Amino acid sequence: MNAPYGPYLPLWREAQSEAFDLAQNSTARGTVKLDLWGKPAEIYANANLSIYSAQACNARCAFCVEELRPAARGVSLAAQKTVERDDTRYFAVLQAVLAALQPLNPSVSITGGEPSQDVRLPRILRTLQEHGARKRTVTTNGSGLLDQREGRQLIDWIADTSVAHLNISRAHWDDRVNARLMRYRSEASPDAAALREIVARAQRAGTRVRLSCVLVAHAVEDLGSVMRYVDFAATLCVDNVIFRQLMRHDPAVTRANFVTRFAQRRGVPMAPLLAALLQRADFSFVRQVMGYYYYVEVWRYSHNAADGNRGIDVVFEGADLAQLERSKTCMPGVIQELIFHPNARLASTWQPWDGVLGPPAPVSLSAVL
Ligand code: SF4
Repeated sequence: MNAPYGPYLPLWREAQSEAFDLAQNSTARGTVKLDLWGKPAEIYANANLSIYSAQACNARCAFCVEELRPAARGVSLAAQKTVERDDTRYFAVLQAVLAALQPLNPSVSITGGEPSQDVRLPRILRTLQEHGARKRTVTTNGSGLLDQREGRQLIDWIADTSVAHLNISRAHWDDRVNARLMRYRSEASPDAAALREIVARAQRAGTRVRLSCVLVAHAVEDLGSVMRYVDFAATLCVDNVIFRQLMRHDPAVTRANFVTRFAQRRGVPMAPLLAALLQRADFSFVRQVMGYYYYVEVWRYSHNAADGNRGIDVVFEGADLAQLERSKTCMPGVIQELIFHPNARLASTWQPWDGVLGPPAPVSLSAVL
């Protein structure tokens, strides 16, 4: 097995996020202390700031993580999600949050809901660019990327504001199967031809595109279907694909919903896939990433090494929402990630009612008016 970036450690694969040790095997190995609106905060040095779009998603995937996260804390998405409707207030708070987090310089990802249907997205992108936010990422189901927003197509806003990564959720290589799995309410996901155009325009601007696929029985579920998906990505000139295991959760505290029922019936573990990769000469191990509730393995598939092609990064991710809660009690006081919620409040969790950091209301609007 070729391991250009470091040794593969079987124990990490076995224990996954349970083996996370902030000081020993995290990507940053430390924390940063800063003041957030007059209160001291200790934050993981490589923490990500997620801008959680207020726009409701126009799909209804049976494996939806937006629905699963609150369910794993015993509440429904509908009960916990509130939205700041006033644009002036929303952007004033966003600016205040970016300024307060400037000493940390977090990577920033925009997620949903569905950001590509969010009328605020161009302004959010411009705001992040103006603040020089690091490693800006947009995660989307892709449905609105060719829509007009403020005079140009959304993909152009993404390209022109120097977004580093564009993650497009795609459950299957076949357009019809994908639409069936993602159950769009209105606009469909881009078909293969539209995706090809989106990828080309993003790449011309230096934005790296990743396709994201959840492992689901009777869809992408084994090495054969994973390889078909990777080959599909190659036809789009996408060199980065991630396969996600449906997030684990603790049934004892989880509020059952359509996602938890689907996970029971059709969730597919990634362990057998990872074991199979160890046997393949056309896959090279790249690295393992330990997270406080997730575990990632990065592999490189050399699909056409003879012509010098650098190959495709094939990534596998498993996450455990019960481990997330355990991590919080093991490392009390350490903030692992930051979420700017649709209600225009910063929190250390995906629940707007837990770990609220600020800013205290009312925010001064003077800086943005
Ligand atoms: S596209 Fe994403 S947010 Fe929308 S339903 Fe599917 S998993 Fe949920």
